[in-house]
Amino acid sequence: MKDVSRWADSRLWTGRRLTWDLWYRCNYRCSYCWFEMDKVWDKLAKEHEGIGVARWIEAWERLYERCGTISVDVLGGEPLLYPSGLDLFAGMARWHRLYIISNLSASMDFLERLASRIPPERLHLSASYHHQFARWEEFWDKVLFLAGKGYHPEVTMVSWPPLLDDIDQKRKILEAAGIRCDIHVFQGIWEGRDYPRSYSSRERGILGGLVPQDDDRQYRMHEAKTIGRLCAAGHVYANVKANGDVFRCGKDSMFSKPMGNMFDPEFRLLDAPAPCPYNFCNACGEHVYLWDDWKRVAADLRSREIATSLVESSLEEGAAS
Ligand code: SF4
Repeated sequence: MKDVSRWADSRLWTGRRLTWDLWYRCNYRCSYCWFEMDKVWDKLAKEHEGIGVARWIEAWERLYERCGTISVDVLGGEPLLYPSGLDLFAGMARWHRLYIISNLSASMDFLERLASRIPPERLHLSASYHHQFARWEEFWDKVLFLAGKGYHPEVTMVSWPPLLDDIDQKRKILEAAGIRCDIHVFQGIWEGRDYPRSYSSRERGILGGLVPQDDDRQYRMHEAKTIGRLCAAGHVYANVKANGDVFRCGKDSMFSKPMGNMFDPEFRLLDAPAPCPYNFCNACGEHVYLWDDWKRVAADLRSREIATSLVESSLEEGAAS
């Protein structure tokens, strides 16, 4: 079995990356989910439906012809419940590497069919465990199944304050089994307190110093100014919505018109980094695309020869130069 562990680690990818909100339907309603906290599920679902698999595949093929292989983070909603999702993912995987973020509620039978159609060289599954809805034993069986098939799944959990002790326990189980575990920092209000700034020192200890990271501190908490700085969002990275609209980054999707649409045959990503139009970059960690930082990280990975090399990207040379 081919070892794809480096391929599966998104931190080592220095080529183009797009996040894609495939659709806005999910079978869970977790208390810490942004869509649930803002009560926007139904509104978003109604506004973004009706695009068939064939049109999406055609759009992704067109982008491949322009940009080469892209790492596509498939988000939702729950991507594995998308109608005819198997055909969509298998079609896209001919050109792009898929990084599907799933709650793994799909049946074992579905996962077996997915594994039979897309090899680990083209598909990575980031399995999010949601304590309020998933049964751990069933989730764990699926993680082990994927690991046995060579997919190197990682498990993510959200650091919602009432779950911290349980998260700590599960993280130890995962690490003992050699499964990478990422904790996503809860951002929101719980019992009247604002997180992440309200974690106690004991809770920060459980999170292993993850809250907040140095760059989070700089850009999200202290709101270092980004306006005018060159940023590669829109060039090496962008955010695709379920109706095909493409935004430079999350902040752009809140305050700006899209830079284009996936179904427009003329759509192109930016040819080069461009100045950031916002005072602050305090959403979703996209500050990593600030051009000076991006170049430094890419050059460092390459000098240590740990940038992902299993999948060729036409951009790798350009991103590090
Ligand atoms: S610095 Fe942040 S807000 Fe500004 S363009 Fe880049 S990703 Fe967007």
